[in-house]
Formats: sequence, structure tokens, C-alpha cells
Amino acid sequence: MDSIKAQACTMCGQATAAHDRDVRFRLPEPVLNSPHQHRAEGSWLSDPDPTTATLMQIPNISPFVRALLPVKLEGGHEFRFGVWIAIHPDDLQHTCRVWNAPEYSDLKLTGYLANKIQPWGLYKVPVNLAVLNPDQTPYCVSSPNEELNSVLTQEWPHAILASLP
Ligand SMILES: [Zn+2]
Repeated sequence: MDSIKAQACTMCGQATAAHDRDVRFRLPEPVLNSPHQHRAEGSWLSDPDPTTATLMQIPNISPFVRALLPVKLEGGHEFRFGVWIAIHPDDLQHTCRVWNAPEYSDLKLTGYLANKIQPWGLYKVPVNLAVLNPDQTPYCVSSPNEELNSVLTQEWPHAILASLP
């Protein structure tokens, strides 16, 4: 009885494990909706499994980089979306070159959100990425889009957990 109680959030009653977690998208939305997805001829992924891949290049669509999109919840919790960001083809070579090098810490990119983020319905909006921890993928740090910027900076009620996949 006590252990069940300890795992329930005092603010909303849902399991605390549902609060501090990673919500990882397997594929960028435009790739998910393409006929051959990541198996299209000429595709390149940093890992054969798109769930663990951090970089991919899909011909006629875009290169993509994985990023963490943190969402703060009231009461000090935080969950993170593992999203795909469409980057400019000119940025791919530099990104690949520094990815496993010391210069990775200085990597900054601007791209477009390639997954749909609910409950806000954000998609294809511009976002700035920076490396906050050299052992992790880059983070979404800011956006010229006001709504995405507010997602990144505000604290949200626990009710939004209901809309997560
Ligand atoms: Zn809660």
C-alpha cells in the first residue's frame, strides 16, 4: 500500500513515472508519411534502428537531427520529447564532422520541428538547438515561434500528460 502511494503524484494522482520520462518519436513526420520511409533508396541513418539513430538523411525530403525538447511541469517535474529536427542540407556535413568530436559542445543549429507536439499542435516551426550536455543530443533552447518558446519556458499543468503518446 505504501509503495503504491509513494509512486503517485501528490498534485494529480497519476504515477510519478509518467511525469519524468522521455517521449521519443521514431521517425520524422514527413518520413513517416513517405512511401518507403527510412528505407528509401539512398537514405542514410547513423544507426539502422531509427529509434536509436541521432542523424538521418532521406533523399528528396531532408536531413534530420535528433534533439531533446524539455517541458517543465508544475512542482518541479520535467519530461522530454525526443524529436526530429529538419536541418538545412548545408549544415549536415559540419554536424556529422563534429558529432563525436570535442567541438560538439559548440554545435548550434537552426531547423524546423519535424514531429507534431501535442497538446499544442506545434509542427514545422523554427527552433534553435544547442548542446547543453556533451553526452546527450542537442536541446531545443529557443524559438522565434512564440508558442514554442512558451512551451520551452513556462511550467505546465499535469493535465497535459494525458495528451502524450
Ligand atoms: Zn502530477
